[in-house]
Amino acid sequence: MKIKFLGGASEVGRLGMLMDDRFLFDYGFSPSKPPKYPLMASNAEVVFLSHCHVDHSGMIPLVCRKYNPKVLATSATAMLAELLATDSLKVCKYEGYPAPYKKSDIRSAMKNFEIIRYSDSVNVNGLRLRFHSAGHIPGSTMFEFNDSLFTSDLNTIDTQLVYGAKPVKCRNLFIEGTYSGREHPPRKEVENSFLEKIDEVVERGGKVIIPVFAVGRTQEVLMLLRNSGHEVWLDGMGKAVSRIFLENPDYLRSPKGLRNAMNKTKIVHSELGRKYALKGDVIVATSGMMDGGPVLGYMKHLKDDKNNAVLLTGYQVEGSNGRMLLDRKKLNFSGVTEPVNCGVEYFDFSAHCGHKELVGFVHGCEPENVIIYHSDDRKPLKNSLNEYNVHTPENNEVIEI
Ligand SMILES: [Zn+2]
Ligand SMILES: [Zn+2]
Repeated sequence: MKIKFLGGASEVGRLGMLMDDRFLFDYGFSPSKPPKYPLMASNAEVVFLSHCHVDHSGMIPLVCRKYNPKVLATSATAMLAELLATDSLKVCKYEGYPAPYKKSDIRSAMKNFEIIRYSDSVNVNGLRLRFHSAGHIPGSTMFEFNDSLFTSDLNTIDTQLVYGAKPVKCRNLFIEGTYSGREHPPRKEVENSFLEKIDEVVERGGKVIIPVFAVGRTQEVLMLLRNSGHEVWLDGMGKAVSRIFLENPDYLRSPKGLRNAMNKTKIVHSELGRKYALKGDVIVATSGMMDGGPVLGYMKHLKDDKNNAVLLTGYQVEGSNGRMLLDRKKLNFSGVTEPVNCGVEYFDFSAHCGHKELVGFVHGCEPENVIIYHSDDRKPLKNSLNEYNVHTPENNEVIEI
């Protein structure tokens, strides 16, 4: 087979892998400022969409308009991809960047989706396919085709939301390498110290603000907090995502647990609700890197009281508002940079394998060839995989396997 990455080979973001000029695995853009787009696909008969994050799904409406391919994805991924594509049009408009497609393209792309389930085994345009959970977020999928496996974003540890992914025997393994060379602390330790920190802040009379990604992290944090006894408020796009997760219970580790967490959470619906939320103990709000969303409005009220604390729960990329908060204790509010005096802490709730889990997964798959992508430093992972033929192609480079 002939493989070409259209984006996301030696970088985290804008992933697209074209196989034999017919099959496209994921097709997304990086939501940076300005957004970074992948190379144009020369053709696409079928798109295999692993999950909804825009760096994997954000270009689907465009490729559907151009080539009218089938798009294979789980029901959760399809519904969330529509929500996130619609949201990214709003973000483009707000930030003043040209949008890659129109709202009508999103609507018509949804007609191209063919819904798959993990237990399915099907033939599509000459490929024998099976689908497996990637353990990354609910509905995320690894594609097994012929004697190959495409993992896309991968997590092998159990989280509140999903069970970890299991290796699949294959000859060619296409694996992400986001955390090549970096490890995560044990999840249980992270969860415990996170909950202890929240108790400590509330006991000293402070309020906790938790910036979260809408998909996955919001729901994971709410599930963790469901027995904490604190008054927890939720604001932002995580509300709509939680509804979609609950409409697709097959993809949750515990639908009951998430339903219970949502029942115990107070939801902000209006400006008045925001005032009430500021009187509670904990506010969970988007966006996760604090580059927009309701979280900034809350921070404006809470940032100057030393008793309060902001707990970051996801990786903060270089150049993001959250990165500036971590490094310099400052935040940008609509163009004005202001100091932050409340507590600031980071907790590593990653939805990606750390280095040793990636290596363990490769061993479990027993492949001959390993192709690493979705990583800005593939060397450490490559060095840990001496016994395999490891490929680290660049974007636009064609390799034959
Ligand atoms: Zn992802
Ligand atoms: Zn990704």
